[in-house]
Amino acid sequence: MEKGSYSFANIIIDISHEKVDRPFQYRIPEKLQGKIEPGSCVSVPFGRGNTKRCGYVLEITDVPQFDPEKTKEILGIEEGEMSAEGIMVQLAAWMRKNYGSTMINALRTVIPVRKKSKTLLRRYIKLGVSVEMATDFYDSCVKKHQVARERVLNALLENPSERIPYELVTGKLNVTAQVIRALSEKGIIIVESEEYYRNPVGDVSASGKQITLSTEQENIVRSVISDYDNGVRQTYLIHGITGSGKTEVYIKMIDEIIERGKQAIVLIPEIALTYQTLMRFYRHFGERVSVMNSTLSPGEKYDQARRASEGDIDIIIGPRSALFTPFPNVGLIIIDEEHESSYKSETMPKYHARETAIELAKLVPGGASVVLGSATPSLEAYYRAMKGEYKLFELNRRLTGGTLPEVEIADLREELRSGNRSIFSRSLQEKIQEALDMGHQIMLFINRRGLAGFVSCRSCGYVFKCPHCDVSMSEHRGGMLVCHYCGYTQPVSKNCPECGSKYVSAFRAGTQQIEKEVNKIFPKARVLRMDADTTRTKGSYEKILSAFASEEADVLVGTQMIVKGHDFPNVTVVGILAADMSLNASDYRAGERTFQLLTQAAGRAGRGTHPGSVVIQTYQPDNYAIISAAAQDYQSFYEEEISYRSLLRYPPAAHMLAIQIWAKDENFGKERANKLRAYIDRMQILGTVIIGPAFAAISKINDIFRMVIYVKHEDDKALTEIKDMLEKVLNVWESKGVMRYLQVQFDFDPMNFM
Ligand code: ADP
Ligand code: ZN
Ligand code: ZN
Repeated sequence: MEKGSYSFANIIIDISHEKVDRPFQYRIPEKLQGKIEPGSCVSVPFGRGNTKRCGYVLEITDVPQFDPEKTKEILGIEEGEMSAEGIMVQLAAWMRKNYGSTMINALRTVIPVRKKSKTLLRRYIKLGVSVEMATDFYDSCVKKHQVARERVLNALLENPSERIPYELVTGKLNVTAQVIRALSEKGIIIVESEEYYRNPVGDVSASGKQITLSTEQENIVRSVISDYDNGVRQTYLIHGITGSGKTEVYIKMIDEIIERGKQAIVLIPEIALTYQTLMRFYRHFGERVSVMNSTLSPGEKYDQARRASEGDIDIIIGPRSALFTPFPNVGLIIIDEEHESSYKSETMPKYHARETAIELAKLVPGGASVVLGSATPSLEAYYRAMKGEYKLFELNRRLTGGTLPEVEIADLREELRSGNRSIFSRSLQEKIQEALDMGHQIMLFINRRGLAGFVSCRSCGYVFKCPHCDVSMSEHRGGMLVCHYCGYTQPVSKNCPECGSKYVSAFRAGTQQIEKEVNKIFPKARVLRMDADTTRTKGSYEKILSAFASEEADVLVGTQMIVKGHDFPNVTVVGILAADMSLNASDYRAGERTFQLLTQAAGRAGRGTHPGSVVIQTYQPDNYAIISAAAQDYQSFYEEEISYRSLLRYPPAAHMLAIQIWAKDENFGKERANKLRAYIDRMQILGTVIIGPAFAAISKINDIFRMVIYVKHEDDKALTEIKDMLEKVLNVWESKGVMRYLQVQFDFDPMNFM
């Protein structure tokens, strides 16, 4: 072999978070050329004694780090079944390739931070006194407004013989360690600790009541499990309204999978990881289940990973990152609320948990099944289901009883015409008053996203849209309207081009304003407000929700945060004050997001015994997203939406790559962005649509200018090819020092527009 023509592999031995950026370089012998790829498990001579060790290939390169003659050679490829670690490295390699990032960043995403190992303790609280005494004590707490104590006792009294995991009390019930200490000093509760390993099958016994699945539920479970037993591995989508029994289906499937000696990963959006949901899993699975929260420290996360890899638990529940739990034998991955945008990572690699789960399911030994669930499936998932890539199940019945709420659309143009200038339509005002009179609760909800800024006519509902991209334009300084995909601009006109009225303006409304208005019109109502301002401190989110749940307020005003997770049986009226806010967010997912938010919000009303009613206020009562949400008709929404996406080649009908360019110097950034575009042009890939560079929606943050190029193509492989080419360009720029002044990120099928 000629000197200099060697190829090399950067290999990590003894993989851990801290060591991923200290790989060792080995030479790839001729017989292994082409057989090794990132993620491969190889044996290498290591250290002074050249002991044989196993390592994982991170990268293949032709750039030697040392004298190639002195670089040691790889001995061979390790055969046999992949370890959990090896699978994670392979998954990282896949993420690197498909989403664009460095191998190091991809590895850091999938590998937990290691910490010094110590004995793992698991703590519980339980009642230390009789139920009668505890009830008396509870009553006295209620009188003294000791709400934290109230919450603890309430949870314990619900099932007096049951222990509750400590982390649920401090985390989900939002009770401080001091409160727990005070209660245990009084002897009211007992805190128990036990070494985790000594007692794998503990006595948080499955005390949950036995539920017999309905025929529809049973069919889903049987279908998935018999596929599994027949060696069929695929992705399933359960489309089922809230309360239709999806969670029970998951629990049953997990039962079956565990019986087969496998493990299960359950992804739930962080915001929906409520105490009630988690307790359902704890009640059923006892100590075999654990929770991953974003609030866990790196050490605690490492503990969870260790428990999983050592076979101490079978089920992990958590947000997107729980996907990387190193179970030895995953059989089932469940993604609940599959449509949630939090399943997409906002940092490199910008992976989507759904796609990554499907890839992981292919990599694990024997393969795993993937089950997606949602009341409002993402267009992506439903589209795949329609094409037969996923198997679709429907659950259409609410099992909780309670009727679906009555939904009314209030036409705000009509309100204006009749001289009503308040934020509330007359109908909503009446309903609020009625609910207050009855002692029921009300949720008022504004689906505000980032900067609103779209411009519309309050008289006829006309919205200024980009003629090229069919998304709303935003108002910028100097009275210009700008499209955030293509950069098209036009001046705001004084009169409506549709009806000629002069009520043309940017749309603005906030939670504070609504709170004020409620105080003005309903001075006796007690109001709680939940938005970014009131939830800044830790635990405040849970605090507001539990205050509302215990009926310390009549009205809860908030952003989309309030529509998820929690169940408030006393809420009978839900008002969506301006559906237009999300409808006119200037990105192609606006319709989908509106449909989801409206459906979820509507589902908040009438959960208990009283029937609920929902008022959707809008200037565009004819919009299909609003009409189909009011009718709770997913199918007709889907049909309209997918034809819009197909027409304009937006995902999932095509794929889209966003290339974000950040630079401190505006001109330099523009120049480089134009160069990147020119490189893409030069590839001349048939069917490519290139838009931009244009300024991002937020064109400058912390003095850094942000530009975006969008590339659309039917085939995602074409986009990966473009990304690979650009990565090469960036590597060259890096070696020339250009990247010191520039940052470039890739985002495939972006969820949030930038
Ligand atoms: P989803 O996850 O779709 O919102 P859940 O699984 O939480 O629905 O079910 C809603 C409610 O109905 C829960 O209180 C649950 O215990 C109950 N439930 C679910 N399946 C059944 C069943 N087969 N029989 C009786 N109750 C059920
Ligand atoms: Zn008009
Ligand atoms: Zn445009």
